[in-house]
Amino acid sequence: MPGPEDPGPADPARRGDQGQAPGRGGRDGDRPGARPADPAGRPPDSGPAGAGTSNDQTNGRTPFGAAFAQGAQMTQPGPGVMPGLEAPTAPAVAQAEDQSMAGGGAADPGAAGPAGVPDRSRPPARNVPAMLGGAALQLQLDAFLTDHEDALIAFRRDLHMHPELGYAEHRTTQRIVERLAAAGLRPRVLPQGTGLICDVGPEDGPTIALRADIDALPLQDEKEGVPYRSTVPGVAHACGHDVHTTMVLGAGLFLAQQARAGLLPGRVRLLFQPAEETPGGALDVMAAGGIAGVDRAFALHCDPRVEVGHLGLRTGPITAACDKVYVKVTGPGGHTARPHLTADLVYALAKIVTELPSALSRRVDPRSSLSLVWGRVSAGSVANAIPDDGIAEGTVRCLDDEAWHRAPEMMKSLLQSVAAAYDVEASLEYVRGVPPTVNEADSVQMFRDAAAQVLGEDAAVPTPQSLGGEDFGWYLESIPGALARLGVRAPGSSGEYDLHRGDFDVDESCIAVGVRVLTATALTALWDGGRPGDAETTVEGAALA
Ligand SMILES: [Zn+2]
Ligand SMILES: [Zn+2]
Repeated sequence: MPGPEDPGPADPARRGDQGQAPGRGGRDGDRPGARPADPAGRPPDSGPAGAGTSNDQTNGRTPFGAAFAQGAQMTQPGPGVMPGLEAPTAPAVAQAEDQSMAGGGAADPGAAGPAGVPDRSRPPARNVPAMLGGAALQLQLDAFLTDHEDALIAFRRDLHMHPELGYAEHRTTQRIVERLAAAGLRPRVLPQGTGLICDVGPEDGPTIALRADIDALPLQDEKEGVPYRSTVPGVAHACGHDVHTTMVLGAGLFLAQQARAGLLPGRVRLLFQPAEETPGGALDVMAAGGIAGVDRAFALHCDPRVEVGHLGLRTGPITAACDKVYVKVTGPGGHTARPHLTADLVYALAKIVTELPSALSRRVDPRSSLSLVWGRVSAGSVANAIPDDGIAEGTVRCLDDEAWHRAPEMMKSLLQSVAAAYDVEASLEYVRGVPPTVNEADSVQMFRDAAAQVLGEDAAVPTPQSLGGEDFGWYLESIPGALARLGVRAPGSSGEYDLHRGDFDVDESCIAVGVRVLTATALTALWDGGRPGDAETTVEGAALA
């Protein structure tokens, strides 16, 4: 991937002015079936029930800019756009802000600006803060990124040069805390000392979480010709978590500006989670109350197969559960001439290794894609002696949450029945990994709408499910949300790249893209009230095939 010497083609995120006219929202809002706004002043949900369940859908929900325009019509009847939604001549908030990355002075909500013009004909409603429309948001994001993109890239490179393994991310945590605190925010470091949580915006609305993971991998950085190569032998940010962290930081700093200007209708919680690769950091965040009161959670993960400027989306499972299993078989042992006088342990072990995967596959819905694959089998030491013990080790991967929960018991009972047939003892150690990450349909649609708004209508692309694991699935067992794959591949690049490789790198223009997407998605979700919608969260087997 290109280094700093080769910035590559123009930042595709800057394509964002397509289809952003605020008036578009009024048009969408007029269509039959749009529900009235709720008493809290939030914009109506739009689109038919069930919209957003297709992985191929590109535009099923009214973009948030349009929703704002609808809200504007409620409070200020008129020809479509509320005062303050007009495209500003200059982005007041960005101008008022300190030029450092951490930001600084808050914009005066009463000042002239894209959303700062108050309706002086009536007192401000508590739950109807000034609104920021799509076009105005674009301009403000442009201004923010003009001022901060270089600093964000420098922040990513600093993390990249100093990668830290799970639960050892002390320097990383400190760097994030410094940036957030300098912006007037109050980050809270998790009890175990790495990872942090930081709230942005008022408490009296919905709460949306943006999650980043901050840990690196025990891999050697093999990149050549870049100045930001890892300085730590055997440790590298080879899964892009430095990029995730930088994007959530950037979105948080921008949203903090909006909050100071009174433009956030709720709270955005930034989750900087430790130890995703270990895994288990998600559980620490949850134990620290990280998702208490959170209505929805969103996360981006780098995808080197997708070109920068695109967002890979999928409803239903996007990553798999991945557990480890350790089987131990014991018997009396003996001479291979007399297997009938003992228990033929190698034969029994072979039966277990071949029978268990096929028996498991007949005990669960095939759509759950439960798969047991052995990685290590071992028994015996010589050709003419039946050993007295043997082992088999493997992984269980699964796309369905319910099947994942049932897997240990099913495997235990199948193991016992096969072992009993050959008169050997068998024990199972089943080590839980992560659950499947199952994307909720409405949350995916919010990603899709946000991408259409700030990247362009064709930015969202379907992404295949992966049998890789991702501990974001822990959050989505409790609250709705979605993980999306962020394109990080340089346009036109022909190289083969993958995660967890020593030469993994990104086109750094993806950072600005991620800031735009996360910001717009959080705002979309906040204006939707953060509430689970009517769309069914279904696994669309046909669409996934
Ligand atoms: Zn990884
Ligand atoms: Zn990762």
